[in-house]
Amino acid sequence: MQPYSALSVIWNGLTGQRDWSRQWRDREPKSAYDVIVVGGGGHGLATAYYLAKNHGIRRVAVLERGLIGQGNAGRNTTIVRSNYMLPGNREFYEHTLKLWEGLSHDLNYNLMFSQRGHMALHFDPAGRDAWARRYNTLRMTGSDGRWLRRDEVRARAPYLNWSPDARFPIEGAFVQERAGTARHDALVWGLARAADARGVQIVQNCEVTGFIREAGEIVGVETSRGEIRAPKVALCVAGSTGPLAAKAGLKKLPLETHKLQAFVTEPLKPIVHTVVSSAQEGLFYLSQSDKGGLVFGGEIDGHPSYAQRGGPRIYSEVMEKAVALMPWISRVRVLRQWAGVLDMSMDGAPFICTTRVPGLYFNAGWNYGGFKATPASGWCYAHTIAKDEPHELNAAFSLDRFARGAMLDEEASGPTPRLH
Ligand SMILES: Cc1cc2nc3c(=O)[nH]c(=O)nc-3n(C[C@H](O)[C@H](O)[C@H](O)COP(=O)(O)OP(=O)(O)OC[C@H]3O[C@@H](n4cnc5c(N)ncnc54)[C@H](O)[C@@H]3O)c2cc1C
Repeated sequence: MQPYSALSVIWNGLTGQRDWSRQWRDREPKSAYDVIVVGGGGHGLATAYYLAKNHGIRRVAVLERGLIGQGNAGRNTTIVRSNYMLPGNREFYEHTLKLWEGLSHDLNYNLMFSQRGHMALHFDPAGRDAWARRYNTLRMTGSDGRWLRRDEVRARAPYLNWSPDARFPIEGAFVQERAGTARHDALVWGLARAADARGVQIVQNCEVTGFIREAGEIVGVETSRGEIRAPKVALCVAGSTGPLAAKAGLKKLPLETHKLQAFVTEPLKPIVHTVVSSAQEGLFYLSQSDKGGLVFGGEIDGHPSYAQRGGPRIYSEVMEKAVALMPWISRVRVLRQWAGVLDMSMDGAPFICTTRVPGLYFNAGWNYGGFKATPASGWCYAHTIAKDEPHELNAAFSLDRFARGAMLDEEASGPTPRLH
């Protein structure tokens, strides 16, 4: 792999950009590997990268049914934060934020990770107390977070609605300064490039359609390009988990597939310098991309579906929320809108685990928060696959936690996937 450096940028600038090598190779599938990772999203690619890097396992294939990064990895609003409170979640998300802080250097690829801060607005004393509990927990466990008074929030975000008649009168906010945004396709390409350089084979347009079993064990997969064998098969297919896992014998999973929409406006001059979120009467989150577009979203569509498009109810709810928080936005044009297909779990927390089917490994349940989790998810999943047991960071993310009453219900929303 050709390393990226200031020198190589200058050299190529002087020589007509002719000396760049391909970032990664799209391979023909081989008949056998040591590990097959199903799904070429961020989590699948990160898993393959850390299998090679941390565990020296290089005969790894990532099988992707379409093109890498065309799932949720390339469809999200790129918010990265670690303001999770429950033991189990907290350590995992702090680990992912720490990995993010060194990931551009590790991958030798600019992920445009911008630690511009994440402000969670509150509008009344109950909201303040709930957030205070969370952010105090963060501070007491080695992460960062602090409270901003109304005037401090106003100084940072004068574009919000500060009118005395505002529908949502802002009282203050809790901020995590190390949080921020990153470039989603750069994460996919950076991981693909670094994994390829360590011997991982990325195979696109190769849909896994079934599993090969011998004596009750999974020993490979059936694909649109023929059979491929491996003693370890690791699922990483987000919203497609239910139907695919059922083919491997995992039925009745604690998951539902839902849709989440995102919206981008025409480019504006820099206005929004942090990520802003509000949980008042439904979720709303906002940031501004490096190209100037305001990127925002809200709740999931609310009914299970595999269709990669969103419905008008959420569209209008998100617009109402945007206008209530920033009345001037009614004069800005929305240029793009799309939806991704999410793997929503019963308690809002993910799964990274072995399964009762020998040879099958499970990674799913990322809800609407799996982009930030990508590095730690790959890191922990690679450990679980290599060692056949979870790392302590993902020990809580097991499939049997519901049977044991050990749910990780961060939002305290109960066993209703659409509410997490
Ligand atoms: C609109 C939206 C906004 C979001 N915003 C945020 C955010 O701000 N912050 C955050 O942290 N998270 C966010 N998320 C969530 C985040 O995008 C996902 O949790 C994360 O990207 C999941 O990554 P993944 O690699 O597991 O899934 P994906 O990127 O979806 O990858 C799964 C891959 O598996 C492939 N696949 C499926 N079936 C098969 C098969 N049978 N054979 C082979 N390949 C198969 C798919 O083609 C796909 O490429 C958002 C999601 C959406 C939709």
